[in-house]
Amino acid sequence: MESTIRQISKSAYAIIGPEGATNFSIVKANDGSAVLVDADIRRIDEVEEALRLTGCARVAYLVDTHEHFDHTSANFYFAQKQIPIVASAGCAGAMRDDGGADFERMLKPVPELYQRFPGLCLTLPDAVFDKTTDVKLPSVTLHLEYRAENGHSHSKGDTTLYFEEEEVFIAGDLLYTEVHPVTFFGNIPNWLTALKPLFQTHYKHLVPGHGPTIDGEQSGKAYFKKMYDYLEDFYGNLQEIKSGRKSKEEIIKHMQSGPYAPLGKSRMVERNINQFMTGKWY
Ligand SMILES: [Zn+2]
Repeated sequence: MESTIRQISKSAYAIIGPEGATNFSIVKANDGSAVLVDADIRRIDEVEEALRLTGCARVAYLVDTHEHFDHTSANFYFAQKQIPIVASAGCAGAMRDDGGADFERMLKPVPELYQRFPGLCLTLPDAVFDKTTDVKLPSVTLHLEYRAENGHSHSKGDTTLYFEEEEVFIAGDLLYTEVHPVTFFGNIPNWLTALKPLFQTHYKHLVPGHGPTIDGEQSGKAYFKKMYDYLEDFYGNLQEIKSGRKSKEEIIKHMQSGPYAPLGKSRMVERNINQFMTGKWY
């Protein structure tokens, strides 16, 4: 399966990961420079190809929406090209505290990347902001906002971007569409709180961290609501498992049926439950 490049608006593009794999975004300025949002070193060829196909002359900034490997592991690659990497202090802090072990673990299945990129290592963002910041290029204004409620929602770094000129909202992993979310790094009650203001956010186009992009604010709102309902239901059921009132198998079945039956990456349900129950990796 290959990723697809979707033109979101006149100057914004999303690299949509296959089968719910991570999305990356490109916002192109009228001088050919671009802001790249998230990049995974394992998929760097796709990212480079997308930059070429969309006619970007150079990457002016890389933005990390949050600390997870699939969104930040190409930081090394772009830092070597002297490209500034923008992220929240929450994201930078999480990478500093826990990123090293995670980085090595994720690269274990692809050791050849160490040969291809000598010195490849966890690379922290170098343009860090606390609550909000703007990233500007000619014809492009991106408003970045840190939204990890109490420092931890989907992740500790959760940042959204709003491309003002073309009304595109990039939600990062606060939003998954059409696929089961990865919740086991998260704090679900805080994530629910972080989602509430997003029901009221304005945009014409919406890019989730994983899954298809959405056109129209009403449709976007419905997806944010679906995300909220999913997390609320899942969290309630985790408490039922913990208290012994329901079995794990019962909850897996519930989270894969009814409104959730069409969602991709259904294997995530059991992984999410296992991680919450044991605090170990699966
Ligand atoms: Zn994530």
